[in-house]
Amino acid sequence: MKVIWGNEIVDRNKVTIDFEDRGYQFGDGVYEVISFYNRTYFCMEEHIDRFFSSAKKIEMRMPLSKSELKELITDLLNESEATDGYIYIQMTRGNASPRDHSYPSQDVVPLLTGSIAAAERDTDKLKKGIKTTLEEDIRWLRCDIKMISLLGNIMLKHEAHKKNADEAILHRGNIVTECSSSNVAMVKDGAIYTHPDGNLILPGITKIVWKACAEQLNIPVYERPFTTEELLEADEVFCSSTTKEVMPVNQIDDKVFELPESGSLIRLLQSCYEKKVVEQCGD
Ligand code: PMP
Repeated sequence: MKVIWGNEIVDRNKVTIDFEDRGYQFGDGVYEVISFYNRTYFCMEEHIDRFFSSAKKIEMRMPLSKSELKELITDLLNESEATDGYIYIQMTRGNASPRDHSYPSQDVVPLLTGSIAAAERDTDKLKKGIKTTLEEDIRWLRCDIKMISLLGNIMLKHEAHKKNADEAILHRGNIVTECSSSNVAMVKDGAIYTHPDGNLILPGITKIVWKACAEQLNIPVYERPFTTEELLEADEVFCSSTTKEVMPVNQIDDKVFELPESGSLIRLLQSCYEKKVVEQCGD
């Protein structure tokens, strides 16, 4: 299996990561997950832009340009046999031994790694939806940075898993923010509500896509905070992420949501999303 390691494509078994790499020691790095369908990346530009923007927010100098990165990830996809799946890329601040919290000097080169995983779209869950729980959002106040230190997200997902749910919907006080690994939105009286971008949530690329769909379909979208009470009173609820796409929620704790019907807003967004995938990636 081939992977990206320090701006090159190498065999997976050639990779060695120094134990003083800051990603390993401090979780000091950023990442992206980009889907591909039909061997073509979906929303590659948007993901690369967010990768660079996350790096900038932590003052990490990128050792390659956006176009060099695009070329590298395209080359890696060409090395793989997968038709559908995703690429995971991460950039850590590199190895600046000895261990020291302070950012190292600019001549310490950040380390890029990346790998491809084959994955089928989860058509069963996309039809039937997922079970979720409500969990207090215990994470820090820079959730806009797509960083590799995911302990808060992992702990929250684990709480959901302990209750046999797929995903945790997070709230700060009674304000719903996002999920442990996706954004969340609710439908009420024909309009969609979702938390505004800012420091409390990750600005999702999938959200950009479904918002464009909503605009095409003349569905109003309100990006404003809403409460857990409003969420539980919603007509429909969905999560969105690169790997989940537009994913219906069929349960939040004990509250069960009817499966969305064929004309429901979730179904309209799902079919629009699929059309956008075909437009970009073919079928
Ligand atoms: N919020 C969080 C916390 C996430 O981990 C993700 C997925 N990485 C998202 C939102 C959705 O982002 P995207 O649509 O860009 O995958």
